[in-house]
Amino acid sequence: MPLRETEALVLRTYRLGEADKIASLFTRQLGRLRAVAAGAQRPKSRYGGMLEPLSYIRLWIFERENRDLLRINSAELLESFFDMQKDYRLQVAAQFVAEVADRFLPEREVNDRAFRLVLAVLRTMKQSGETNRPLVYFDYWLLRLGGFLPDFGHCTSCGRGLADAPVYYAAGFEGLLCEDCRPPQAMLFTARERLARVVERCQATLSHWTGEEESAGDLREVRHFFEELIEAHLERKLVTRPLLDEV
Ligand SMILES: [Zn+2]
Repeated sequence: MPLRETEALVLRTYRLGEADKIASLFTRQLGRLRAVAAGAQRPKSRYGGMLEPLSYIRLWIFERENRDLLRINSAELLESFFDMQKDYRLQVAAQFVAEVADRFLPEREVNDRAFRLVLAVLRTMKQSGETNRPLVYFDYWLLRLGGFLPDFGHCTSCGRGLADAPVYYAAGFEGLLCEDCRPPQAMLFTARERLARVVERCQATLSHWTGEEESAGDLREVRHFFEELIEAHLERKLVTRPLLDEV
């Protein structure tokens, strides 16, 4: 059984029996995977608070041949995002990032850019207390790195150029829609200029964008559209998504 060392972000944990936990981890060197932490439910576990969701840890892990589940040998905490739990708005935003990463990233596929993205988004939210720009940046880059970013200039259904005509978006569709292709439940998308600005800002680093003094304005519509695209690709609703709009 080879012992591997990797950095990882804890996405979520589940109880396993009386004493153990299963952790869903986004590791830098091995991709997203699930691993057993023996004894992690015990009060004096050596994992302590390390396996809290969104902890940034270094871990040593046993790979087992032909086994889906790996086994954690030991871990050390590199950075905690636990303090974000004190602010419900930040907590929900962080949970959304964890849920999307957990569902969206393919298993056992190394993706260093996505790893750096999640870490940068969490750090920016923790340091600035802002969720707007970090979440939109996260959605944009996750879609783009996954190869799911649509062509915003054309209807995703019929391919017609959208120019200045009214455009729509709807659940289950992977891009913007024209008047003729929109289903009855489609919503009018009024933020095309803002979307163009978001795309432009996302070409630089997140800290560059959040460092701008000028406020980002209302990004809700762009964020809703990106969330629809993510759910369309996942073919399922995200549990944390409705919570974002409550806060
Ligand atoms: Zn169309």
